[in-house]
Amino acid sequence: MGIRFDSVTVAYDGNVVLDSLDLTVEPGEVMALLGPSGSGKTTALRAVAGFVRPVSGRVLLGGRDVTDLPPYRRGIGMVVQSYALFPHMRVEENVAFGLRARKAPRTEIRQRVAEALEMTGMAGYARRHPRELSGGQQQRVAIARALAIRPDVLLLDEPLSALDAQLRSGMLTELARLHRELPDLSMLYVTHDQVEALTLADRIAVMDRARLQSCGTPRELYRAPADEFTASFVGNANLLPVTVGCGGVDFAGAGLKVGTGDA
Ligand code: ADP
Repeated sequence: MGIRFDSVTVAYDGNVVLDSLDLTVEPGEVMALLGPSGSGKTTALRAVAGFVRPVSGRVLLGGRDVTDLPPYRRGIGMVVQSYALFPHMRVEENVAFGLRARKAPRTEIRQRVAEALEMTGMAGYARRHPRELSGGQQQRVAIARALAIRPDVLLLDEPLSALDAQLRSGMLTELARLHRELPDLSMLYVTHDQVEALTLADRIAVMDRARLQSCGTPRELYRAPADEFTASFVGNANLLPVTVGCGGVDFAGAGLKVGTGDA
């Protein structure tokens, strides 16, 4: 399901922290919101989730204005940096939480929990408690919990930033796989990390000081940045392109391949 920000402005105590954001995420697309700390990325995500109300503008999901809908009625899954699992609940209970809250039938809950744990490679951990899991495993459970409700839209707020470099790279691959396996699921992915955005996103929206600076595919932004800020932020010296083929761009510094076509 597509997401549309229609001139969305958010202010805290009169300070505008998101200024007239116009942005469309197509159905099934992964859009990264990339920008430095404090640029308004999380606020934009929270406006989609319904945790913050715009002072003006509208948020549309699948073409429907949801600006006045409460979070639980928006069909959204959300994953945040700090996992936010319930420590006293087993993995399977954590994953079932959203379904229980929606009063789903017991057999359906069981099936969907199993499916979500399978999808995130956590099928063998259903009876564990979060404290018995590594950070990476906890984040997988958090993703399973978000997927269990079969959301139309998945919101991810710096989901990898609490993980070490090796786990981060593994999880990036996992998220790319989920994107392939769930072609209808739109994702909005907040990050300040250029490599994550360039690796995972179909398109990147670059934010700075409450405003959208530019938006395009990784290749467009990298090859032809629209402005100086985008050039300095995306065209990072650590990310020198070494080969440019028809399918993707290899980044020397990161050793990662960008793009989804045939290389
Ligand atoms: P980012 O995700 O890009 O780091 P945020 O959207 O979290 O940026 O924050 C944008 C600005 O809004 C920051 O200056 C931040 O201090 C401010 N802000 C965020 N949440 C609140 C809040 N609940 N109350 C007041 N100011 C806030």
